[in-house]
Amino acid sequence: MSKTIFELSSAGRAGATLPPREIDTPLDKLIPQKYQRLRAPRLPEVSELDVMRHYISLSHKNHFIEKGLYPLGSCTMKYNPKIHELLVRNSCFANLHPYQPESTLQGALELLYELQKDLSEISGMAQVTLQPVAGAQGEFTGIKIIEAYHKAKGNTHKTKIIIPDSAHGTNPATCHLVGFDVVELKSDEHGRCDMARLREIVDENTAGFMLTNPNTLGLFETHIEEIAELLHSVDALIYMDGANLNALLGIVQPGKIGFDIIHFNLHKTFSTPHGGGGPGAGPVGVVEKLIPYLPVPIMSKDDNGYHLDYAHAATSIGKVHTFYGNFAVLVRAYIYIKMLGAKGLRRASENAILNANYLQKRLEAYYHIQHKEYCMHEFVADGSWQKKENGVNTLDIAKRLLDKGFHAPTVYFPLIIPEAMMIEPTETESLDSLNAFADAMIEIAQESKENPELLHEAPLTTPVRRVDDVRAVKVLDPIFKIEK
Ligand SMILES: *Cc1c(COP(=O)(O)O)cnc(C)c1O
Repeated sequence: MSKTIFELSSAGRAGATLPPREIDTPLDKLIPQKYQRLRAPRLPEVSELDVMRHYISLSHKNHFIEKGLYPLGSCTMKYNPKIHELLVRNSCFANLHPYQPESTLQGALELLYELQKDLSEISGMAQVTLQPVAGAQGEFTGIKIIEAYHKAKGNTHKTKIIIPDSAHGTNPATCHLVGFDVVELKSDEHGRCDMARLREIVDENTAGFMLTNPNTLGLFETHIEEIAELLHSVDALIYMDGANLNALLGIVQPGKIGFDIIHFNLHKTFSTPHGGGGPGAGPVGVVEKLIPYLPVPIMSKDDNGYHLDYAHAATSIGKVHTFYGNFAVLVRAYIYIKMLGAKGLRRASENAILNANYLQKRLEAYYHIQHKEYCMHEFVADGSWQKKENGVNTLDIAKRLLDKGFHAPTVYFPLIIPEAMMIEPTETESLDSLNAFADAMIEIAQESKENPELLHEAPLTTPVRRVDDVRAVKVLDPIFKIEK
C-alpha cells in the first residue's frame, strides 16, 4: 500500500510560493473573531514533485481507457479524443457565463443549436432538448413528457408503462418516480420482446412502452413496427432508451421506425468522458406532436441570430436542470460529431458491431453464449459452464481479468442471463487489443479447469483485493477486505 499524502509530509517542505499580501489591514480586522481559526489547519508539507508523484501513482492504480481495454457492456467505454479537451478548455468556452446577454453568446448558442439539429437527424426525431445531464435524467424527462401528453389529452386512465425484463434498472425506477405503474414484459426464447404476451398486456390503461434497442443482450429488436402499431392503437407512446446508440449511428433512425421519444447518452456514444460519477449529458429527442412538452429553453434561430427560446413555456414540463445542461459535455459531443461527419459516425457503428462480433466468435467455444446469432455493438457471454464444471463463478472470472490488465465486462447484468458477462469492446479497439483480450479470457477459461483456487483468490496484483460492495455503499472507506 502506498503512503498517504500526509505520510509523505516533511516539516518545512513547501510546494507553493504565495505572492506577497497586498492588503495591509491585519486579518483580525477583516475576519470577525468568531470565524477565525484557533489552530493552523493540518496540511501536508510536500513539494510540487511529491504531489505530482503521489497523484500520478494513485491514478495508475485505477483502470482507465488509456491504460487498457475497458469492455464494460452497456457503458460504451470508447476512447475520448484529446482534442475535445483541448478545445473545450479554450477561454472562448471556459469563460462564458450563462447570465451573459444573448447577443454575446451567439457562438455558444449556434453550437447548441447545431448539436440539437445533428442529434435530431441522427435519431430521426423532430426536436431535441440538451438539458438533461444523465441518461437517467433523460429518461425522467421523457417519461414526464409522456405524462404531460396524456394529461393534455385528458387520458387520466393511463397509469401503466410496459418495460421488458432485460431493461436497465433505471427504466422501471424512472417510471416509478414519475408515478406510473410498471408492467414487466418477459423476453421470448430469442431474447426479444414476447409479442404474444405484449398483445395480452397492452390495453386502454397503457401510457407507454419503454424499449432499449439494441436490447441489453446486444440484439436488435426486430418487431418495432408491429410494436409501434399496437401501442399507438391505444394512444400509448413508445420510448426508446438510446443510451447505447453505438450500433445505430447513420444506420437506423429510431424516429423513423415508430419511436416517439428517445434519450441519448452523449457520455457513451458521443465520446465524452464518463465514469466516476462525472458530468454527463442525456439529451432527449421527440416526434413533432411532443415538442410542446420539451423543457425550456430550446435553441432556435431566425434572421437576427440564435435564441434561447421559451415560446412553449406554458405547455412545457418545465426545466430539468439549471441553464442549458452540461455545456462543456455538449461541446465535446459537438466536436466529436463534426469531426467524424455522417460517414465517420456510420463507420464508427459498423466497426463497433464488427469488433463485438469478432470477440463473440473468438470466445464462443470457451464460454456459454445463450443467443449465438450476430450481435450488435455488444454481446452477453456467461460463466455458467465454469460454474457448473469447476465451481468458478463470473465474479471470479471478472476479478482475474484485472490481474491480466483489463477492466472486467459488466457482470450479472442483464438479470435474465445467469452469470452474465456483457462485453462491449467499442470501435476504438484495434484487432491486436481485441485479440489480447480474447487470449486473456481463454487463458482464464483454462485456469478455471486447472487451478480454480487461483480464480477464487483473484485479483492478486491490484492495490486493493476484493471489496465488500454492499458495505462500501454505506461505509465510505472502500479499502477493506472481505472477511472469510
Ligand atoms: C447507462 C445507461 C442508462 C443510464 O445512463 P446514466 O447516464 O448512467 O444515467 C440507461 N439505460 C441504459 C441502457 C444504459 O446503458
